[in-house]
Amino acid sequence: MDQEWIKGTVSLIHRFDGDLMHDELMKIYNNLCEHFGPRHWWPADTPFEMIMGAILTQNVSWRSAAEAIESLKQEGILSIEGILSTDPVSLAALVRSARYHNQKAKKLQSFCGVIAGEFRGDLDEFLSQEMGTLRERLLDIYGIGPETADCIILYAAEQPIFVVDAYTRRIFSRLGYFPEKISYEEMQHFFMSNLPRDVALFNEYHAQIDALGHHTCLKSKPRCGECPVVCQCAVQTELNTQG
Ligand code: SF4
Repeated sequence: MDQEWIKGTVSLIHRFDGDLMHDELMKIYNNLCEHFGPRHWWPADTPFEMIMGAILTQNVSWRSAAEAIESLKQEGILSIEGILSTDPVSLAALVRSARYHNQKAKKLQSFCGVIAGEFRGDLDEFLSQEMGTLRERLLDIYGIGPETADCIILYAAEQPIFVVDAYTRRIFSRLGYFPEKISYEEMQHFFMSNLPRDVALFNEYHAQIDALGHHTCLKSKPRCGECPVVCQCAVQTELNTQG
C-alpha cells in the first residue's frame, strides 16, 4: 500500500454525535496505550528544559534536539540567565545538532528575553497566566508557532490544550475522522470538543499519536499489519470493501 493509494481512496469520514465520537476517540486512545505503554512525556527535568526542547525540536528529530539540550547542560547555561548571557554565535554553535542553529539560538534568546524583561525572570508566573492570554503572548514571541505554543501550554504550564501535528493529520485522516486538508485550528477543535479537558489525557493522547506516527503509520509505507487501531481505520474499511 503506498501513500498515493491511501490519499486517493479514503473517502469515508466517520460522523458520530457527541458521546459516540467521544467513545470512539477513547477506544483509539485505549488501544494505543495498551500497545505502546505509557510514554512519560515530555522528556525533560524542568519546565524550562521542556520549553527549550520544544523550540529546538522544530523541524528536526527529538534525538537532534536532545543532543543540543545536552550541550547546553554541559556548558552550564541551561537557564534564562545562561541563555541570555551567551553571545549568539557561541549559542548557535552549541545547538548546531538541532539544525537551523542561528535561527534557533535567536528563538531561545527571544523567549528568555520575554521572561526576563516582562516577568522578572519568573517562569512560573509566565506559565500560570490564563490559557488564552498565555497562548496569545507565546504566539507573539519570535519563532513560536501554534504547535510549539500548545506544547508549552500542555507540557510546561500543564494547562489543558490538545496539541496536534503532522502525525495527527496523517493518522486521523487515514482513520477517517477528518479530511487531510484541514487547518490546525479545526483539528484542535475536533479533539477539544469531543474529549474532556484533562491535562493528563491530552498529554498522553498526543504522545501516543506520536508513537503511532513514528513507528507504525508511516508516511509512505504504513505498517497496517501491526497497527493497534487497524479495526477502526477507514483505509482498511475501504480495502476490505474493494477486496
Ligand atoms: S491501519 Fe493503522 S497504520 Fe494503517 S493506515 Fe490505518 S492508522 Fe495507519
